[in-house]
Amino acid sequence: MERSEKLLFEIGSPGRVGIHLPECPEEPDGDLGIPAQYLRTEIEGFPELSEVDVVRHFTRLSRWNTAVDLGMYPLGSCTMKYNPKMHESLARLPGFAETHPLQPETTAPGCLRLMHELEKDLCAISGMDHFTLAPSAGAQGEFVGMSMIRAYLSERGDARRVVLIPDSAHGTNPASARLAGYEVETVPSSPNGTIDTKALRGCMGPDVAALMLTNPNTLGVFENRIVEVLGIVHGAGGLVYQDGANMNALLGKVRPGDTGIDVLHLNLHKTFSTPHGGGGPGAGPVGVRSVLEPYLPVPRVVHGTEGWRLEEGYPKSIGRVHAFHGNFGVLLRAYVYIRSLGAEGLRQVGEQAVLNARYLRKRLSGDFEPAVTSDMLHEVVFSDHSFHDLGVTTLDIAKRLLDFGFHPPTIYFPLTVAGALMMEPTECESRQELDAFVDAMLQIRHEAEHEPQILKSAPHRTPVRRLDEVAAARRPRLRWRSPTA
Ligand SMILES: *Cc1c(COP(=O)(O)O)cnc(C)c1O
Repeated sequence: MERSEKLLFEIGSPGRVGIHLPECPEEPDGDLGIPAQYLRTEIEGFPELSEVDVVRHFTRLSRWNTAVDLGMYPLGSCTMKYNPKMHESLARLPGFAETHPLQPETTAPGCLRLMHELEKDLCAISGMDHFTLAPSAGAQGEFVGMSMIRAYLSERGDARRVVLIPDSAHGTNPASARLAGYEVETVPSSPNGTIDTKALRGCMGPDVAALMLTNPNTLGVFENRIVEVLGIVHGAGGLVYQDGANMNALLGKVRPGDTGIDVLHLNLHKTFSTPHGGGGPGAGPVGVRSVLEPYLPVPRVVHGTEGWRLEEGYPKSIGRVHAFHGNFGVLLRAYVYIRSLGAEGLRQVGEQAVLNARYLRKRLSGDFEPAVTSDMLHEVVFSDHSFHDLGVTTLDIAKRLLDFGFHPPTIYFPLTVAGALMMEPTECESRQELDAFVDAMLQIRHEAEHEPQILKSAPHRTPVRRLDEVAAARRPRLRWRSPTA
């Protein structure tokens, strides 16, 4: 049954209020220091509502949401893992929650120390020499990393023009390289899903500043020729940037710094657990080898004779990349996650994440076609190839999954796989939950063969049915207008 919810602007009535406050004794204009001409006495079309109107509106909407706290959310590449509630209680400690970014830094030594310790933990986990916690997302981390590479090469008088990126990369990679001032050239993948080293050799030259490589890559496949790749790029004077958003698969197994990677970003909101989705919040710390250390953004947390403080005095730094000191709430949650699991726990996270993805692959491979034959790690990608003759597409499969209470996997990405369905169960799911998901997928396969119209018209049990996604993207209604206006 379709359900709908009116906008707050459409409910309520004139004069209805939530809280009655006593009348203001005098006009507050003077106190505020704002000239009278800029003060409004009324806001046109402002909704007038009682508390219960507002509470019910938002509570109803919240029950339509899908969330990782409601069920499996196997959105490949996004690592939507469960967020332990312990993070939330620690994030609410007044010493953290009530700290203001503008208060004198000497009054927040605990926060600075936490940031410093998190930097050290990320170094230990990744094998990099130094970290900056400033970037607010993976994409910003990429931009910061590429900007540091640019500053480093320029200073050596070797300003190169080109950045190489494999065709399976996340779209943010070419965008970030471009923003940092580079031209992007694409390196094809080989049929097993990894970078084609022969093609890479062909692309390398004195104008290549860096290779941006995702490992494990976007198909979930480990770049097993990484040492050869590093040799090719370093041999021609370029640097290697690793997109480490998929670090979930490598925890406790591979440290990118040990393989010789020059720059790496991590997505704390993916691998290290923070409530994200719908666009944030996030943190994309960047790790570097020591040659790039002078270029790290400022301010940097240091410990001196006067205790913890923020230091701006790094003349070669690429400068500030964030209004304050990163998304502290996300940093705090990642710190709690790392400290509560410890080294052994993190290793188990990686192993369990891979085991869960492999289990899905094993159980679904008879009915869905894996995108590549090579072993995948933390995620598994299928194509809709075997559904073509039945007239069923990836979109139909994704929509039908909603009826079974599962958030669909990532669809139509990576672009190298036609009709991709990319699943990342993460380590958080139990065998029972994975089996329930497999049952839903097998039911969908059965329906595709016997009653495809059920799939073509799905979803059937959600508050709204299939949306016109093209219109939603091309003609979004972002502002409510009164029908009488
Ligand atoms: C998620 C992701 C990104 C971008 O990270 P954001 O935090 O969304 O900016 C980049 N690369 C890969 C491989 C990713 O999975």
